[in-house]
Amino acid sequence: MISSQVAPGGAATAELDLSRFGPIGLVVVQSTSLCNLDCDYCYLPDRQKRRVFNLELLPVLLQRILESPFCGPQLSLVWHAGEPLTLPCSYYDEATAIIERCVQEHANGEVLIEQHVQTNGTLINDEWCACFRRNRIVVGVSIDGPAEIHDAHRRFRNGNPSHQLCMRGIETLQRHDIPFHVIAVVTAAAMEQPEAMYRFFRDHGISAVGFNVEEQEGVHTSSSMQGQQQEERYRQFLQHFWQLSEADGHPVVLREFQQVIDLIQRNQRLNQNELNRPYSILSVDWQGNFSTFDPELLSVSSERYGSFNLGNIRDTSLLAAAHTPRFQQLWGDVAAGMQRCQSGCDYYGLCGGGMGSNKFWEHGTLDCSETSACRFRTQIPVQVLLERFEAGPPPSR
Ligand code: SF4
Repeated sequence: MISSQVAPGGAATAELDLSRFGPIGLVVVQSTSLCNLDCDYCYLPDRQKRRVFNLELLPVLLQRILESPFCGPQLSLVWHAGEPLTLPCSYYDEATAIIERCVQEHANGEVLIEQHVQTNGTLINDEWCACFRRNRIVVGVSIDGPAEIHDAHRRFRNGNPSHQLCMRGIETLQRHDIPFHVIAVVTAAAMEQPEAMYRFFRDHGISAVGFNVEEQEGVHTSSSMQGQQQEERYRQFLQHFWQLSEADGHPVVLREFQQVIDLIQRNQRLNQNELNRPYSILSVDWQGNFSTFDPELLSVSSERYGSFNLGNIRDTSLLAAAHTPRFQQLWGDVAAGMQRCQSGCDYYGLCGGGMGSNKFWEHGTLDCSETSACRFRTQIPVQVLLERFEAGPPPSR
C-alpha cells in the first residue's frame, strides 16, 4: 500500500491510502466565469461577471499537478464553467505555450496534456477553428436539439434565442472538418419529441451526443424532470431514440448507452468512478481555488461541509490538501456513500457509486446512495439497453 503521513502545509497527519487516489485524468479550469448566454437551467451563480483565470497561475497549477503523487501519463485540461470563447484566441495560444514549457520542465516531456473546450457554439468562427486546430483543442458544443426545444431555455440576456448562432458555429466546425461532440440538456419538452430530437442530430451530421437530464442544482432550484412520472417518460424517450437510431444503423451514438456497452463488451465492472475517486478530477476556479470529486461542487458551500474548496494553488499543494480535516470529512462521506451503493444497488458495477453533486443537492450529504440523477444517468439507460438485448437481434432492414 502506498501511504502518506507527511502533510507539508497541512493541518492533519492521518495516514491516507493513496492507492485509492488519482491519477488525475481531468482538470477543469474556469478560464472565465462570464457567459454570453443566460440559460434558465444554469447552475453557475456569477455567469454575468467577467472574471478571468490569470495565465500567470497556469504554471503554478501545472507544477502542482506534474509534481504531485497523483499525476498520471496523460490528462485532459477542459476550459469550462463560463463560456471559454468570450476570451480571445490568443489566450489559448499562450496557454498552449505554457503547457508545453511546463511539461518539459517538470515532467521531462513525458506527460501528455490535451486541451478541451465546452462551448455554447455561438462565437465559433473561422478564427476559432484555426485556433482549435493549431492548439489541438478538442471541442464540445452544448446544443439541446431543434430550435424550438433549444431556444425555450438557451437565450441571451436580452432574451434573443441562440440556436441560429449555435448552428452557424457547428456548420463552421464542419466546414473546417473539426470533429466535435455535443452535450444536450434534456427537459420535459424534449421528451415529448424523441423523433424530432433524433432527426435533428442525424440530419446535421452530429454523431456523438451526451444527454444531461435537467437537474436541480446550484442556483437552479427546480427541474422540469422531477418525479416518477418523468422517469417513466424518459425511459420511453430513450427506447424510442434507440429504436430510431438502430433502424438507421446508429448514426447517432449516445454517450449513456455507449459507456454501458463498452463496460459490458470488456466484461468490466466498476469499483469506483472518476467523480468519487480523489484526485481523478481536479477543478480550479478563476481565482485558483481547487477541489476534487465532482467539478460542480467547487463553488458550493454548505452547513455540513463548509466549502468544498480544498485550498488555493498559490499556497497549497494537492498532497497537503488531502491531509486537511475538510478533505478527510468529504472523503469519509464519499467513501461511506459508495459503500451504501455497493451493498445496496444492482447497478454498482456499471456506475461505480454515482455523482457527488447530485447526492449533495438531493440529500444534503455525500453519505447516501440513490438519487433521481443516478436513475436518469445510469439505471434507466441500463434498463433500456438490457431490455433491448434480451429481445434478441435487431430486425433486418
Ligand atoms: S445507480 Fe445510483 S444507487 Fe446505484 S450505484 Fe449508482 S449512484 Fe449508487
